[in-house]
Amino acid sequence: MHKTILITGGSRGIGAATALLAAAKGYSVCISYQTNHNAAAETVDRIRADGGRAWAYQADVASEADVVNLFQAVDREVGPLHALVNNAGILEQQCRVEDLDTARLHRILLTNVVGTILCAREAVRRMSTQRGGTGGGIVNVSSIAARTGSPGEYVDYAASKGAIDSFTRGLAQEVAGEGIRVNAVRPGFIYTDIHASGGEPGRVDRIKANLPLQRGGQPAEVAQAILWLLSEESSYSTGIFIDVTGGRF
Ligand code: NAD
Repeated sequence: MHKTILITGGSRGIGAATALLAAAKGYSVCISYQTNHNAAAETVDRIRADGGRAWAYQADVASEADVVNLFQAVDREVGPLHALVNNAGILEQQCRVEDLDTARLHRILLTNVVGTILCAREAVRRMSTQRGGTGGGIVNVSSIAARTGSPGEYVDYAASKGAIDSFTRGLAQEVAGEGIRVNAVRPGFIYTDIHASGGEPGRVDRIKANLPLQRGGQPAEVAQAILWLLSEESSYSTGIFIDVTGGRF
């Protein structure tokens, strides 16, 4: 039987790479997207063209109603959920703390933190062996920013990813007895569209030069870590973090 995986923000970047790799490993792949229907459809088409199984659903992870509807649609149209990748996330323009405004903080915290927790809640409700489920795996996409704090750049984004790290640690212990493992990846600098929203000229070159491996990462390199954390190969690991950072830290 095919296992079902749900990847939030799966239309592009790390989410799309994770969707493609999951399909290659035999999962029935559900991706959610916020607005870009065409990009989501493209990911689904690529998977189906290779003989895989894929579905795309529109859902804003910051909306509780959207999240509930998303999981219900997966139940109805695909089948019991075995794996969740909490990937959807946003980064905004570089900004020092004295210039931050409430609207920006709400956007970041609602998407990165509330969205992650709501999706995990829906997944646990379905996967828990104490609620009739068969267990499963959750991987949260944090960031190396949770460790660096991103001073002078995005302390608010870093704080949102720090919250994801705490949530991962706590939830892993809370549901360990219910057949669910919860882990996280912390990407460093990965080439995706997220960097279009922030950064001074030359930022990418500056970051690359300071990385031990002296290059940015590819989304597929993060996807490999995510799929390993969901696989039986990591069966004795829960509450752990894999830094995919080219050697930073
Ligand atoms: P990306 O911008 O290409 O992808 C982000 C995805 O999240 C998109 O599909 C977007 O539509 C989706 N999304 C954003 N807000 C959403 C919402 N409210 N509801 C539903 N979907 C929403 O960037 P990416 O680099 O692939 O980012 C994926 C994850 O990786 C994010 O959580 C990001 O913080 C994290 N990350 C990325 C890097 C990097 O260097 N690229 C580094 C560390 C962490």
